[in-house]
Amino acid sequence: MTAATMQQQALAEAADMVSSVPTGLFIDGAWRAAADGQQFSVHDPATGDVVARLANATPSDAMDALDAADRAFPSWSRTPPRERAELLRRTFDLVMRDRERIARIITLEMGKPLRESHAEVSYGAEFLRWFGEEAVRISGRFGSSPEGTGDMIVSRHALGPALLITPWNFPLAMATRKIAPALAAGCTVVIKPAALTPLTTLYLVKLLEEAGLPAGVVNVIPTTNSGGATGPIIADSRLRKISFTGSTQVGRVLLEKASANILRSSMELGGNAPFLVFDDADLSRAVEGALVAKFRNIGQACTAANRFIVHASVAQEFSRRVAEKVAQFKLGSGFDPDVAIGPLIDEAAVAGVDELVQDALSRGATLVTGGKRRGGAGTFFEPTVLTDVARDSRLLREEIFGPVLPIVTFDTDDEAIAIANDTEYGLVGYAFTASIERGQRLINELQTGMMGWNVGVLSNAAAPFGGVKMSGLGREGGAEGIDEYLTTKYTLLPSVFRP
Ligand code: NAD
Repeated sequence: MTAATMQQQALAEAADMVSSVPTGLFIDGAWRAAADGQQFSVHDPATGDVVARLANATPSDAMDALDAADRAFPSWSRTPPRERAELLRRTFDLVMRDRERIARIITLEMGKPLRESHAEVSYGAEFLRWFGEEAVRISGRFGSSPEGTGDMIVSRHALGPALLITPWNFPLAMATRKIAPALAAGCTVVIKPAALTPLTTLYLVKLLEEAGLPAGVVNVIPTTNSGGATGPIIADSRLRKISFTGSTQVGRVLLEKASANILRSSMELGGNAPFLVFDDADLSRAVEGALVAKFRNIGQACTAANRFIVHASVAQEFSRRVAEKVAQFKLGSGFDPDVAIGPLIDEAAVAGVDELVQDALSRGATLVTGGKRRGGAGTFFEPTVLTDVARDSRLLREEIFGPVLPIVTFDTDDEAIAIANDTEYGLVGYAFTASIERGQRLINELQTGMMGWNVGVLSNAAAPFGGVKMSGLGREGGAEGIDEYLTTKYTLLPSVFRP
């Protein structure tokens, strides 16, 4: 079968998959239309075609969702942890059962190559399994006061109804990374997926329902009116938690709103990851790491390497080897099995990347490969490598969110670390060096929440994911992830052994 026929077949299958996705809002255990009957369209970014029409939640629908989450909270938070765990585990099994279907839905609405969608399904499902396992390990402490007169109990409790807002770039994983720890902790949720990619979340919720989700525990409100629909929920004192993944700009707006009710807030925001290659690095490994750290998800990841900071003595060789590979990347529909680079999410994304590349070129950067958008249907930008990038170029300051790999050089370790830290962001850094001492120094001195040492991808459900500086607050995944949905209570009682 040719690549074109396989692509056609995959697209036909994907359209069939969409018919299995619910098109309504999910509130209080029932699928329903929006209060005003309005709908919005979801597009395939590779073709621009409309692939679905969905209910568009209004502010009153959003308040119904909060009402339902609030009503369900007392009983869900008292549901035995083992039962909460088993719901998550059953959902994990259902996601694995339907992994082909979910991968196709992701590629259809978001554009990433199908094999990357499969990887997202594995990664995203893992949060359901991991937090199912964590649900039965929520523990407190017991101890004597130092004076010996009192017994001190430290217990942990579910916070209450939570609002979860997710971005479009990892439609499954960003949803499970929030829903799973919230439910494990005993919180109920209202989730608002990105309007560009709501289908995956709707399908996930259908699986939660199949797994036995009680009414009101998870409510979903896709909407194009994100500020209008979520504003009244955030202003309502029954909401006790907001967890947001998205841009720093929107995160700041939400934090301001959250401050009115002193809402517990988790913010997974933008990144501007440095990718350091030292003169002692294994270059083959560094090139391999660079390609995945940059081009995974078409460069549209908060963890995407944004600035390649390479020792002057290896920069030429590194650039040559990277560019050679990048020039061979095929651009096209994610359903074509030979494609490495799918479409960007929309027209605004293409225009933004184009602007950053033009800015770098106007400041003297050398274009090694790529450099322009592709004409015709869909929103494509060529995979691009730029060298000699001037330090004041916008693409070194801003999140590129596209398939563009800019290279700058350094001479000393101090200089490399200074360049790496010269950003308001601090999500992740990558470092390629054979030296243990240098690696240890970087762990201490890189101002980031995460570091990949001789690796280009590090996300794992068992690890705490999150950033410092303007990359956010809190951690998702790992033992830390469930803490975001729990509060700590201290109780003192007279000691039975009172002296
Ligand atoms: P975005 O900030 O535009 O939107 C994120 C979500 O917020 C969407 O659901 C959107 O509809 C919603 N939203 C937008 N304005 C809102 C408002 N006023 N009130 C309530 N909700 C609102 O981000 P995006 O373009 O969807 O995603 C890309 C960004 O997300 C990048 O900056 C990327 O780095 C970041 N991101 C971060 C992580 C992380 O874990 N740190 C992971 C993935 C993406």
